[in-house]
Amino acid sequence: MDGPKVGVLALQGATEPHRLVLDALGATAVDVRTPEDLAAVDAVILPGGESTTISFLLDSSGLRVPLAERLADGLPALGTCAGMILLATEVLDGRPDQESLGAIDITVRRNAFGRQRDSFEADLAVAGLPDGPLHAVFIRAPAVERVGPGVEVLATVGDRPVLCRQGAVTVCSFHPELGDDLRLHQRFLEEI
Ligand code: GLN
Repeated sequence: MDGPKVGVLALQGATEPHRLVLDALGATAVDVRTPEDLAAVDAVILPGGESTTISFLLDSSGLRVPLAERLADGLPALGTCAGMILLATEVLDGRPDQESLGAIDITVRRNAFGRQRDSFEADLAVAGLPDGPLHAVFIRAPAVERVGPGVEVLATVGDRPVLCRQGAVTVCSFHPELGDDLRLHQRFLEEI
């Protein structure tokens, strides 16, 4: 039987590693660049990249409105790094014309852990994830500064949430598609 059809928003950013992980886990990975692409998927991943650019391209591609509608209807979504910023309700240190989709009730600060050279890796204890800590790569990562009442915090760095979930929407500050620990994607697929 074919696995779920998972769209990877492919407007800008690090899409290929997500596709490889999805392939390795038996899902069907589909690039999403148009509203027609989006209509055909069972779930969506918003990758890392540059949230300001992706926000601009969501408008020019015509994807913003249909994506917001499907998210409001419960489309399972995983947002990594810039993808987390795009799914948040509020963004700090964004560009004034950058808009997010408001699919998870959190406030996110861009580049909160510093610049490119401050990128780091960490082993995270993730709530409900068996078999030990998750190895996580942070690259110009956002931090979560406010979490709404319906949001679960699944992992932190110090006291900062870096992995959160609300309903069918999961977001993380880091890049679970880099490295060979596929458990976050695996759990996402199991919940579709
Ligand atoms: N700093 C980037 C942004 O604001 C996100 C970085 C990333 O996705 N690795 O969009």
